[in-house]
Amino acid sequence: MVAQRLDGKVCAAQVEEELHLRIAACKEKGITPHLAVVIVGDDPASHVYVGSKVRACERLGIKSTHIELPADSTEEKVRDVIHTLNQQNDLHGILVQSPLPSHMDEEALTDLIDPAKDVDGFHPQNLGRLVQGRLDGMLPCTPSGVMRMLAWAGIETEGKTAVILGRSRIVGMPQSLLLGSKGIDSTVTVAHSRTKDTSALCASADILIAAVGRPEMVTADWVKEGAVVVDVGINRVDDSTRDRGWRLAGDVHPDVANKASWLSPVPGGVGPMTIAMLMENTVRATEQSNAD
Ligand code: NDP
Repeated sequence: MVAQRLDGKVCAAQVEEELHLRIAACKEKGITPHLAVVIVGDDPASHVYVGSKVRACERLGIKSTHIELPADSTEEKVRDVIHTLNQQNDLHGILVQSPLPSHMDEEALTDLIDPAKDVDGFHPQNLGRLVQGRLDGMLPCTPSGVMRMLAWAGIETEGKTAVILGRSRIVGMPQSLLLGSKGIDSTVTVAHSRTKDTSALCASADILIAAVGRPEMVTADWVKEGAVVVDVGINRVDDSTRDRGWRLAGDVHPDVANKASWLSPVPGGVGPMTIAMLMENTVRATEQSNAD
């Protein structure tokens, strides 16, 4: 079997097409969706992600404000920036790029973002709504992007056995809630670094989502014939055959393509979907602010 491509670029382009209409409707009412991205420090990968987000805003006609702070900024400084952005009426979405420097409490800072502007979906109020099964609010972008991609490919989820590798607040845990939610109806197991016999568990899954941050950890023998495999991982690995000396690798080994029915590529799979969902959350935040 050769896996079909869960093509995040194509799916994201479709999401953007729909967003163009919603953004035009906002603008007709005199409101331009506006996203602020706050980045602290000079982590190169973070700057690449922020660049992609700003470019997506430009493509869609969403206004973006890019706030860069030095790595040695105080937590209080970031708090002040968030408070100011919360108060700004013409601003609909606030994103604080992760990771923050180690001297900062990332969760405490996320808690300060106005939940109505929390386009990352990490505020306890938004995650709490997800736990309650209320899926109409700000959902975390990566897991909701995975769900959109599964729907786009027409992949059946009801009654399927799903294994999520990873239990992080931003990917694995919300992903498990989404896949197990009413209407999606998969039966979900979450694996983590203390899980025993992880490979056998993965090999039992109809749907396998890998979000561990371990390059190519999921090999073909971990995968059931015909399973749907989503690779969330983005890892930089040394590669002397490339001019730049490195390449991007997912958490899934490329050989899995010979066993899975569907596989998302890295890059070009979950990455573009994460950005598309961020744009959608920004538009939703704009529409909801206007509805008040
Ligand atoms: P975290 O480091 O926060 O979480 C990793 C999870 O994997 C943890 O729950 C950890 O378990 C688990 N884990 C680690 N090693 C193993 C192992 N050997 N077996 C089973 N589970 C293991 O990472 P994130 O969730 O933030 O990100 C995961 C990956 O996804 C990364 O590569 C990241 O770059 C990528 N990513 C991609 C995005 C995209 O847009 N495509 C967006 C966000 C992330 P424990 O809890 O026990 O430590």
